[in-house]
Amino acid sequence: MSRPTLATIRIDAMAHNLERARGLAAGSTVWAVVKADAYGHGLANAVKGFDRADGLALVEFEGAQRLRALGWTRPILMLEGAFDQGDVELAARLDLGLVVHCAEQRAWAEAFAGERRLDLFLKFNSGMNRLGFDETGLRAAHASLRAARATRSLALVTHFANADLSGGADDALERFERAGAGLQGARSVCNSAALIAIPAARELGARGGSVRPGIMLYGATPFADRDAASLGLRPAMVLESRLIAVQQLQAGDAVGYGATFVAGRSMRVGVVACGYADGYPRHAASGAPIAVEGVRTRTVGRVAMDMLTVDLDPVACATVGSRVELWGETIPIDEIAGHAGTIGYELMCALAPRVARAVR
Ligand SMILES: *Cc1c(COP(=O)(O)O)cnc(C)c1O
Repeated sequence: MSRPTLATIRIDAMAHNLERARGLAAGSTVWAVVKADAYGHGLANAVKGFDRADGLALVEFEGAQRLRALGWTRPILMLEGAFDQGDVELAARLDLGLVVHCAEQRAWAEAFAGERRLDLFLKFNSGMNRLGFDETGLRAAHASLRAARATRSLALVTHFANADLSGGADDALERFERAGAGLQGARSVCNSAALIAIPAARELGARGGSVRPGIMLYGATPFADRDAASLGLRPAMVLESRLIAVQQLQAGDAVGYGATFVAGRSMRVGVVACGYADGYPRHAASGAPIAVEGVRTRTVGRVAMDMLTVDLDPVACATVGSRVELWGETIPIDEIAGHAGTIGYELMCALAPRVARAVR
């Protein structure tokens, strides 16, 4: 029999979340962001769940090739643009839109002499200081790329560093508007947080531009202080497993490596077939929520490579074979992330290849 650790991807939840995003993005084109294998959900599932998206956006050229092979014929946007001149040829061949964020990429696009034309998205550095041109660079690149033979369309994009904090993107938005003042081209600014929380950023997209939601489409929150359910989002990934052993502890008995949990009284603990080699974070402190047969309880002791242990006191009926939800519908992934000092994004992306996948 196969190991019971299973990640179920909910296509209906992905479609529901996309509709939430579309509702907020009234008037703008919606790119569903599917980098990192659709945040761990699988590109094939993304093509189904996001079949009503206007386009898909990612950073991996192999992924873009895969999307075309899966039959995705609508636009694809490469969020980090080309990594070398050859990628520009590939982009033209597969009809991929390219972000242009630096002088090298600008030169590669200008040097492109192929038949097909390119959809280019000129990136402004609005304060994140990772990718993008400053105002002078943006204006210069805009002028030369507009005139370049290879250009079919030219949009202006930026990515906010602090859209999840109240007022955190005000300054960046203002800089972007100032830098692009008078320049032609559709605007694209919103990640999930900005789409949900920054009406002024949404407005820019609504004037013929686009938005780029990612995390919200998978049913997790981009915010530290607003949970996914309150945003009307549904979890798209359910990670579950089963109890493979049950132990009766006496007061003073320890559990797991390092004996970090010691029973204060007689209690039952269950052993779950899921560990850090499946993508469950080892940093999740003892006491993280977990559901056994639908009942919320807590983890006890350290997370090991293949197993973790749970307090069965609240679940008298639990036996070997009982169903355990690590995250998904009863336990929001964001809660586990909070217990592990990380964010839902990282947990989704870290789901290990050895975990069996199902689609529902
Ligand atoms: C990843 C990414 C997004 C999506 O961000 P979320 O926080 O997941 O919504 C949008 N734009 C760019 C440029 C990105 O890299």
